[in-house]
Amino acid sequence: MTMDKATFTRKFCDRLLLVFGKKVDNATPLEVFQTVGLLIRDILKHKWKKTEDMYQQSKERQVYYFSMEFLLGRLLYSNLLNTEMYDVCKESIAEMGFNFEEILSQEHDPGLGNGGLGRLAACFLDSLASLELPGHGCGIRYKYGLFQQKMVDGYQVELPDYWLEEGYVWETKRLDKTVEVRFGGEVKTSVENGRLSFHHHNYERVLAIPYDIPIAGYQNNTVNTLRLWSAESTSNDFHFHSSDRNDYYHYLDYKQSVEQISEFLYPDDSYFEGKLLRLKQQYFLVSAGLQSILRHFKERNQQLSLIPDRICIQINDTHPSLVVPELMRLLLDEENLSWEEAWTITTKSVAYTNHTTMSEALEKWPVHMMKSLLPRIYMIIEEINERFCQQLWHDFPQLRDQISDMAIISFEQVHMAHLAIVGSSSVNGVAKLHTEILKKSVMKPFYTAFPKRFTNKTNGISHRRWLLSANPNLADLISNIIGKGWIKEPKELIGLLKYANDASVQEQIAKVKQENKTKLANFIQEHYHLTIDAHSMFDVHIKRLHGYKRQLLNTFHILHLYQVIRAHPHVDMAPRTFIFAAKAAPSYHFAKKVIKLINATANKINQDPIARDKLKVIFLENYNVSLAEKIIPAADVSEQISTASKEASGTGNMKLMMNGALTLGTLDGANVEIKEMVGPDNIFTFGLTADEVLAFQERGAYRSRDIYNGDQRIRTLLDQLVHPFLTNDDVEFKDIYYNLLYNNDEYFVLKDFDSYLEAHELVEQAYRNNQDWLKKSITNIAHSGKFSSDRTISDYASEIWNIHPISIQE
Ligand SMILES: *Cc1c(COP(=O)(O)O)cnc(C)c1O
Repeated sequence: MTMDKATFTRKFCDRLLLVFGKKVDNATPLEVFQTVGLLIRDILKHKWKKTEDMYQQSKERQVYYFSMEFLLGRLLYSNLLNTEMYDVCKESIAEMGFNFEEILSQEHDPGLGNGGLGRLAACFLDSLASLELPGHGCGIRYKYGLFQQKMVDGYQVELPDYWLEEGYVWETKRLDKTVEVRFGGEVKTSVENGRLSFHHHNYERVLAIPYDIPIAGYQNNTVNTLRLWSAESTSNDFHFHSSDRNDYYHYLDYKQSVEQISEFLYPDDSYFEGKLLRLKQQYFLVSAGLQSILRHFKERNQQLSLIPDRICIQINDTHPSLVVPELMRLLLDEENLSWEEAWTITTKSVAYTNHTTMSEALEKWPVHMMKSLLPRIYMIIEEINERFCQQLWHDFPQLRDQISDMAIISFEQVHMAHLAIVGSSSVNGVAKLHTEILKKSVMKPFYTAFPKRFTNKTNGISHRRWLLSANPNLADLISNIIGKGWIKEPKELIGLLKYANDASVQEQIAKVKQENKTKLANFIQEHYHLTIDAHSMFDVHIKRLHGYKRQLLNTFHILHLYQVIRAHPHVDMAPRTFIFAAKAAPSYHFAKKVIKLINATANKINQDPIARDKLKVIFLENYNVSLAEKIIPAADVSEQISTASKEASGTGNMKLMMNGALTLGTLDGANVEIKEMVGPDNIFTFGLTADEVLAFQERGAYRSRDIYNGDQRIRTLLDQLVHPFLTNDDVEFKDIYYNLLYNNDEYFVLKDFDSYLEAHELVEQAYRNNQDWLKKSITNIAHSGKFSSDRTISDYASEIWNIHPISIQE
């Protein structure tokens, strides 16, 4: 159902008048954006209903992707492409006298995620819909998304992200689908008809209200649903005629405590914060999501034993792993199934994705917390644990002495990863290396017991968002060279390979890259009043700020280059611009010091005339999806320098390679597979391998102090940190200094420094050979099809979910 321009313009004017009481000549950009959004939503609504109806009739299995985070980014651009309304809308908007880009930029990024994990969930939704697969998202509608980052005097300051301020045009509130979630209280047992039954009393009632967002496939008729739950209070518990005046205040307290549940997203990436409110959020998501799925299932009047044939629940990390006991509770207490029946259904329906091997990220809830907040759920977990330990004892004699390591409950804690593994039929890692580490170390005894349960599903990214939408000029160029097939079949990008040495193609690729770099340079000029050389090499390090991602190593390299320039002002060096963007968790002291260090470094270098035409450093604030879309098309070098074994996969690495940047990285996460694809000539790798890091950690054989003592360059750098050099005092960076020398440099920054410098020299040499660089760049784009989330989703669909496309007829 496409529309011509005249019709679109007419509908636009009608809507504008109806909703805002405005004529075109005095509408604000925000009102224009919202009006366009409403029109596109109308187009989607028809297909959305069709899709729902088809799914309702179908006996095919459907997948529900449970995730505490969905980092969607803006939706208007992709919805315009998906509905084939892009050209019509763009021209109509321009004719009415508005700037199209300005209109698009009115959309507030829904920042309902921290980083990679949440963005993965969003890419998966895109691919599910585009592949016509029946798959939905289930998450939380946080009132405040991830904080907005501002820089004040080089320090990160966090501001609340009230993304709903102007309303959210894509969502629909579904009051009729409200469910109730229960917290606290006591559980009493009784025997009824010879069966033990459980009664929950004195609990706190929380209403879960769903807001649905349509997820449209690329130029097909599929519109899937992302359902986000919002916590609201019930007024039923308030007695308006009560004579006790305190009742009113109690009610307000209760209302506030309930609404808190979906108030904000926890801003920690890869760090477990054992806060009660976080546990409440997790159970809220899980209970609301499962009740709604079950209700929908029962509307089709099916036998409960058919649940695993119709429904698959994929959990994104352990955050939603309470699906296991909650589904058990619903089947046992509400549906009166036996334990064995309920357990079979549950384990066959649930699948778990692991995202990290770092111990500080593993979720372990104190028993007392779980017991008081979720008394019935805790009883069920105890029973699961009891039966699991028995099973180990009887069926796996070789694991008997490891039962206490594998137990779900031990040392007064509930181990969520163990619960997720035991309660599901599939456990997957997110890159080959990561899955191997799970199998041979972190989850070894579980792998021994259940080898078939473990598989790898290497992450991917939506090439439609990260190439087609983010870099339209490159996308057009690619389509001109190999045709448009790659948009639906990203593997076809491999067709570019035969042009890698083609001078004309190289020249065109270079031209697009240059235009993108100039555009980013203009953005930086406009917003930061910093002039950067648009012809310098753009070296980009964008991701969350974390010790293991080693922004510090990058900074040390920059400071080292600066040292070289100061010693040899006329040294022959390719001009470089180092671009950073990263948010640090508000409570992560070390990470915030690194931000300050990067800014202090930028300040020093950018102002020093000696470095003027060789080095520039810039930290772009508030890294989010929209900023990533600006930076990535302009990147020459992609910094993927995590301590080997720590980055489970990474997806930033994939976005950058897809846009023709060359990776400078460790053999970590999906970098390993990028190297496999492009070959060693088209990537720059360095540093310790994962096995070496793990061996060092096991033997405790690393001593950072020895490296400091033995390497003059490192001594100079570190000593500068504790002298007035970058800032006027000598204490600003002492924590970084102490961390490296007295805490023994947990992330092997000093150890990898030398090898990182060597790799950088190779990068510089390659960059100076323009044709060779372009060949490498084209080779990277050509091989990036493997890292499309279409490939990832096809793998999940056939190997875990067993789901099949359902074509929606118009
Ligand atoms: C892709 C993406 C990430 C993940 O980046 P990594 O380099 O894989 O850590 C984080 N944040 C945003 C906004 C992203 O788009």
